Amino acid sequence: MVDAVFVGAGHNALACAAALATKGWRVAVYERADTPGGAVKTREATLPGFRHDMGAMNLSLFAGSEFNCRFGAELAGHGLDFVPVRDCFATAFPDGRWFGVSTDPNITAARVAGFSTADADRWLRMAEEFRRDAPDILQILGAAMMPLPLARAVWSIRSKRGTRRVADLARLFLQSPRGFLEENFESGHIRAALAVWGMHLDFPPDQGGGALFPYLEAMANQSFGMALGRGGADTLTKSLVAMIEAHGGVVECGADVTSIAKEGGRARTARLADGREVTASKAVIAGVAPSAVPRLMGGSTGDARYDRAVTSFVYAPGTMMIHLAMDGPPDWAAGAELKRFAYVHLAPSMRQMAAAHADARAGLLPSEPVLVVGQPTAVDPSRAPAGKHVLWVQVRMVPGVIRGDAAGEIDARDWEAAKAPMTERCLDILERYAPGVRTRILGRASVSPVDLEAENPNLIGGDQLCGSHHPWQNFLFRPAFGHADWSTPVPGLHLIGAGTWPGAGVGAGSGMGLAKRLARF
Ligand SMILES: Cc1cc2nc3c(=O)[nH]c(=O)nc-3n(C[C@H](O)[C@H](O)[C@H](O)COP(=O)(O)OP(=O)(O)OC[C@H]3O[C@@H](n4cnc5c(N)ncnc54)[C@H](O)[C@@H]3O)c2cc1C
Repeated sequence: MVDAVFVGAGHNALACAAALATKGWRVAVYERADTPGGAVKTREATLPGFRHDMGAMNLSLFAGSEFNCRFGAELAGHGLDFVPVRDCFATAFPDGRWFGVSTDPNITAARVAGFSTADADRWLRMAEEFRRDAPDILQILGAAMMPLPLARAVWSIRSKRGTRRVADLARLFLQSPRGFLEENFESGHIRAALAVWGMHLDFPPDQGGGALFPYLEAMANQSFGMALGRGGADTLTKSLVAMIEAHGGVVECGADVTSIAKEGGRARTARLADGREVTASKAVIAGVAPSAVPRLMGGSTGDARYDRAVTSFVYAPGTMMIHLAMDGPPDWAAGAELKRFAYVHLAPSMRQMAAAHADARAGLLPSEPVLVVGQPTAVDPSRAPAGKHVLWVQVRMVPGVIRGDAAGEIDARDWEAAKAPMTERCLDILERYAPGVRTRILGRASVSPVDLEAENPNLIGGDQLCGSHHPWQNFLFRPAFGHADWSTPVPGLHLIGAGTWPGAGVGAGSGMGLAKRLARF
């Protein structure tokens, strides 16, 4: 018997287990895959000595998280190590120009001024305003997402800053990326370079509720930079597992939880595929996709409204990943400085982003997807043999189920067959911006949306977010109204992970949030 049993070893479950273990809880985490971490894993996917982040590469959310604030020193003792990034993200444009955000605001502003002096002025003012506004935004995002605590957070901002401030914030939360960016910047290049952050989630330029992401990413990268994991993002996973074990907890892989059993009306026992049963005295904590909860409970949680909400939970379009082992970095046509950046976006315009999203939503392979070209070895050479590099290419977005090809060139309708031609399409795009890049590729591994889901069933249809973040499925509604506090209708059963508030990303928000609800911190 343990105090808490966890289904899945995603970073939220690991963080929750680690936090509870520090309070003396006996915790046991069961993971179906052969390694822990879910979407935070590093592997030699191409050639020996080349370490590729198979999911998250950017650990900034974790570095700035409440969990890291509280337990960072202990995790560092277990090996957690970040590499700070000063040249954070950039866009290379087809007209041969580029724009990038580095942590020195004057350097970034000078680059903005190359496109518009009015925008450079606005950039510096926005960075200034961000220092003032960030605490209000964080107060909302950090509030428990239940009506009363949220109302209290809003009221507290109103008391300190006035009604006008609350209205401005509400407007920002409702705006589309395009609305926000057109209101603030006149250069199409600058607008595109920021709008692409919406595409890291599922916010094409005209989707209401998406403005916050370009704003926060631009200003947070400007103010704090970015953080990668030294040697790979799995520094996070390994240190969390070591912390759990140091407190007497257990993390077991190759252990599929097939169902959860109740006793006396409470969730009590996780049943494993090999027939074992693990009973918990205090909590059963599932780090699964919302739609998996009724299934784990044998078909229903007993609350029809909740079951309807989670089984009709909408997943975003999929992601495809291309991992490349490289003889050298890409020679970016727009400028050698681009070699220094952690991310180079190939997302030239809001029109292209809108089309890529619409294609993927319609089941079409986009003719020109957004490419997020991660260059981790630009800041962390330890991930590849001396002088060599890895590229982490995220293809946003692609359909989980293929109904056609927007370019009319790829006939395949299943990912096994479509993966190779889609990889070629993406490498052709990369080649346009970095001529000769193909000749530098030493090894490659493509991961389709189907592969992503096969490895981690939470990534339904290859959706890296575990559910759309459009406003009607976020905040109070993630994953279902009345349950954004990680409760479920089943007493003793809790749901955490990217499908719950505060959503996707490696901020460990739901894991830490639930730990605080269950134990005193
Ligand atoms: C390709 C990709 C790139 C990304 N890039 C970034 C990035 O750069 N920065 C960022 O902040 N975020 C990024 N994300 C998002 C981020 O990684 C995820 O939102 C986050 O890691 C999800 O964590 P989680 O706790 O919800 O669990 P997950 O990581 O989804 O893990 C859940 C685990 O539970 C296991 N599981 C599920 N069901 C069962 C069961 N029945 N029994 C046992 N085990 C089970 C799964 O196998 C899995 O290991 C990326 C995601 C992907 C896929």
